[in-house]
Amino acid sequence: MKVRVQAAALIAAACCLSIVLPAQQPSSAPYTVVSREARRPLPVRVVSGQEMFALDDLARLFNLTVREDTAAGALTVTAGTQTIVLSPQQPLASVAGRMISLPVAPVRDGRAWFVPVDFVSRALAPGSATRIELRKPSRLVLTGDIRMPRVAARVEPLGSLTRVTIDVAPSTPHTVSQEGSRLIVRFDADALDPGDLRVPAPTETLQAIRPGDTPQTLALDLGPRFASFRAADQAVPAGGTRIVIDLQAQTEAAPPGAPQPQQPAPPAPPAPGETPPLLDLPPPGGLRTIVIDAGHGGDDAGARGAQGTLEKNVTLSVARRLKGSIEARLGVRVLLTRDGDGAVPADQRAALANNNKADLFISLHANASVRPGVAGAEVFYLSLEGYGAPAQRPTQGSPEALPVVGGGVRTIEITPWEMAQTRHVPESTAFARAMEAALRERGVPMSARALQQAPFRVLVGANMPAVLVEMGFLTNAQDEQRLAGDGQQNALVQALLDGILRYRSTSPSAGTR
Ligand SMILES: [Zn+2]
Repeated sequence: MKVRVQAAALIAAACCLSIVLPAQQPSSAPYTVVSREARRPLPVRVVSGQEMFALDDLARLFNLTVREDTAAGALTVTAGTQTIVLSPQQPLASVAGRMISLPVAPVRDGRAWFVPVDFVSRALAPGSATRIELRKPSRLVLTGDIRMPRVAARVEPLGSLTRVTIDVAPSTPHTVSQEGSRLIVRFDADALDPGDLRVPAPTETLQAIRPGDTPQTLALDLGPRFASFRAADQAVPAGGTRIVIDLQAQTEAAPPGAPQPQQPAPPAPPAPGETPPLLDLPPPGGLRTIVIDAGHGGDDAGARGAQGTLEKNVTLSVARRLKGSIEARLGVRVLLTRDGDGAVPADQRAALANNNKADLFISLHANASVRPGVAGAEVFYLSLEGYGAPAQRPTQGSPEALPVVGGGVRTIEITPWEMAQTRHVPESTAFARAMEAALRERGVPMSARALQQAPFRVLVGANMPAVLVEMGFLTNAQDEQRLAGDGQQNALVQALLDGILRYRSTSPSAGTR
């Protein structure tokens, strides 16, 4: 789905409002209140689809006093010196005189009162003398100074390498060491809050990831052909840490356990039904970094198909596959503007590419139309229409400020930063043409208007050749079914990879900046 600059704010707002998030299945499984001293269950009651805690339970666990003032029609909760006033008819609470909202009003059952689980994070936590942290995904309430980082892992096979990326939040000191047939990641923490640790398909160097023998450790079960590993840390914008562990497989000739010389990963074997890798083509000399932008994310789900397929999920899935494919076959560094279901502002997406001196920027989207018959992929590059005459002035040599990650602007030259794309329009046009031709050649169904110009917000700030690919229409039944499946996603990846090579070979200036 596209957001054009002129009405970007309005459209974005409308999109957000019209998105009905999938109803999170309310569960009656208890939460666990965790402190350094103990773990205690906190029962959950589901009332009209909302998870609620009994005020009596909260009072017992957090030393609260609850008083019902029937005359005034209010519930007063005292926590230390703090007073919270709840009104039984309203999804609101007054916390030390400040109004906060709740998803639903408190409900009564007999003599017991129930409040939505968010009461803990919105009303109780802010004024509490000790820390109270509600973690909905893991159904935990952390109290006091317990250190319990959330950890989630992701696995990418990259030829003879298997890359394990572990996201840790908040940042926590850690070590990685080999102990027999396992790698142990040990955190300086009291315990871990494990998120997704699944290994979708075991590789020759990695079989499984699971909690270790002590509460502070994660264990990576190594595969039969594991030879060596390398671990490195990256900071992530949200304040956590990302641990990247590369597991290298033995080469055929090397005896087991022998140290491996550093070598580029050979091309990944083609997936079933996929065409063979482009072994006969020269590597794209000059291309060093490519940024792939998975459109939308977080609360912004983008377009939605009738079967419930969400644009934000399709774009992320194709982005991850394309990254793996480019890295394995071209040996080019690939960065994703998001590698999870998080919201990323449009300007920050271009900023990531600018900050990393990317040579190409590819924004992935899936389209929506009020007419269900409209189908097919489309490739866009920047149009300067709508920017007014001054914006269309050539910008050679004129200073310019570019947005940088973490906010702020770095002045490089003088024209507005959002004109960064101006000087690249001719190259972007060639890049878009190459992409469109490659998609067509790989049999990706194309729309009647397969190549178009539009003033997309995400493209204007990119200081390199940039295209936006709408991979199909989620509002078309056939397109939706295809886009949700592995076959079409792999075909798109193959076509986009072809397009990059095609652009590289036909554009004399590509990659020589
Ligand atoms: Zn979109």
